[in-house]
Amino acid sequence: MPGKPEDLTGKTIYDLTFIKCVGVDKWKRALWKVVCSCPDKTTLVVIAKNVKTGDRKNCGGNFHNSMKGLTTHPLYDRWKLLMRRCYETTFSGYKKYGAKGITVCPEWKTFEGFLTWKEIPYLLKNLILQIDRRNNSKGYSPDNCRLVTSVINNNNRGNNHKYHWKEHMLTLRQIAEMENLPPEAFERFRIRVVLYKWNIENALKTPKMKNQHTKFDIKIDIDDSSPPSSISIN
Ligand SMILES: [Zn+2]
Repeated sequence: MPGKPEDLTGKTIYDLTFIKCVGVDKWKRALWKVVCSCPDKTTLVVIAKNVKTGDRKNCGGNFHNSMKGLTTHPLYDRWKLLMRRCYETTFSGYKKYGAKGITVCPEWKTFEGFLTWKEIPYLLKNLILQIDRRNNSKGYSPDNCRLVTSVINNNNRGNNHKYHWKEHMLTLRQIAEMENLPPEAFERFRIRVVLYKWNIENALKTPKMKNQHTKFDIKIDIDDSSPPSSISIN
């Protein structure tokens, strides 16, 4: 397309950061010098359009070849998400992370390094858990991260959702109060309803099961939250 090519200087898409436009090819496609974020820090010239469409995500060097087997790992996309949020300027989440100074600690900058985190075995067993930063102004590191359920992570979302209970439309907190649910049982109740879609009655009345984990900051039993087979779920 004729006209002035888009200025991509300083932008990062996936692993590639645009340095400068070096011209156009014979089809008038903008050519850009880019640098890859992999340990080799390779610079190369690419067709900008191919980066924008995702046809080219990195320099294609040895590092990426050695990673090929790992990209199918169940946690690879999670790790990549952290990295993209913090370093990919054009990524949708960047504004809330990288742009605010949130970084990934040096040891987690490689996927292998991330896998050495002591919480990884728990995360692999409970893939519904999310990685939460204790202090939101600090970055991703073993010191600042913990595993939580999505309900905790989205603490401010959905709390006002109302459910039909005994002829009223009530929040879960109101239902818990009405039914005199002990405070320590509230989180389990909420998870059963919000995450596992139990009906209110079963979520209230099914007792806590054995094998309570103490591993997580919240006092719920992840395994126990799947409905027992003897209960019918709406
Ligand atoms: Zn590379």
